[in-house]
Amino acid sequence: MTKSDTRFQRFLKPSGSEGENILTDTFGRKHNYLRISLTERCNLRCTYCMPAEGIQLSPKAHIMTYEEIYTIAKEFVAMGVTKIRLTGGEPLVRKDAALIMEKLATLPVQLTLTTNGVIVDKFIDHFKKCGIKTLNVSLDSLDATKNKEITRRSYFDKVYQHIILLVNEGFQVKVNCVLMKGYNDNEIIDFINLSKDLPIQIRFIEFMPFDGNRWNMDKLVSLQEILSEVYSNFKENEIIKLKDALNDTTKSYQIAGSQGTFAIISSVTNPFCDGCNRIRLTANGQIKNCLFSSKESDLLTLLREGKPIAPIIQKAIQAKFKVRSGMDTLDKFKQSDVHSKNRSMITIGG
Ligand code: SAM
Ligand code: SF4
Repeated sequence: MTKSDTRFQRFLKPSGSEGENILTDTFGRKHNYLRISLTERCNLRCTYCMPAEGIQLSPKAHIMTYEEIYTIAKEFVAMGVTKIRLTGGEPLVRKDAALIMEKLATLPVQLTLTTNGVIVDKFIDHFKKCGIKTLNVSLDSLDATKNKEITRRSYFDKVYQHIILLVNEGFQVKVNCVLMKGYNDNEIIDFINLSKDLPIQIRFIEFMPFDGNRWNMDKLVSLQEILSEVYSNFKENEIIKLKDALNDTTKSYQIAGSQGTFAIISSVTNPFCDGCNRIRLTANGQIKNCLFSSKESDLLTLLREGKPIAPIIQKAIQAKFKVRSGMDTLDKFKQSDVHSKNRSMITIGG
């Protein structure tokens, strides 16, 4: 037995030891947050997420059924998961999305989702019924024309109104905005001003590289650049740094007197891997132990063969790198073959 096998054996406890949080990796990080992608399909075509030429969808038979999603989620909960986020693709375009939410709501977890907001109005009562209290909604520009250029669809008005609707209905809303140079980097202050009047959190996300999204470092708007824009538009004593929790991906701030806050997700220039508690399940049933990992573990095939899935989940956790699946320097981002081996974001589930 090799040294790493021995290390793995230590964590190979039977599943069902609730409360023990057995999903601890070799760096002591506890994984209690599962992100499940419900579908590879989407009603938008965001340039940073979906390759211009489209994607090769997995055959329907390879996509987890709602029963399989529930079975896998239950196994994760038995291993210590306490929070589940539904994502995609666009999770709400899946025909049985409501049923999946209902099933998962029976588990002892905080259930939440990330959506592009286009059809959230149809789910308001359902969210309430399922105990969903927080939602992340993506909106990359406050200018309808620009929004159309980024999403390749014309839904700006709808999404904007749906954000207000969610707030009025009492949901906690975080607005995800991927910043890209020359597209929407001139809107940082407009977005922050939106958080003055609305009790929402604006989250600026650094543009990340995935297969087919034509990423390059020049398009990225860094944490440093965002903060320098903020500091040149507001007085220093108006900018309040808020406390971040260990597992937060965000560095959060508030402009004095605002109802809402703003935050920065700096996955590229300032990774937050030390506090990572996340594991991802793709719509076709593969575990990814890191957003940047090109390696996957096939849970769905095992499940369909009637084999136990707990050992492979533990193995995936033990294989997790300390930082971004080994992309531990900015220079490594510049090697394009590294990201082209990873899926496109739409098929991972961000
Ligand atoms: N369709 C839903 C939505 O757009 O919110 C959920 C799936 S989407 C893949 C999840 C999040 O990933 C969105 O907030 C999106 O902005 C973000 N995202 C997608 N591609 C990205 C990229 N290349 N860099 C940074 N964030 C990205
Ligand atoms: Fe669809 Fe979300 Fe990707 Fe945009 S970011 S293409 S809305 S999955």
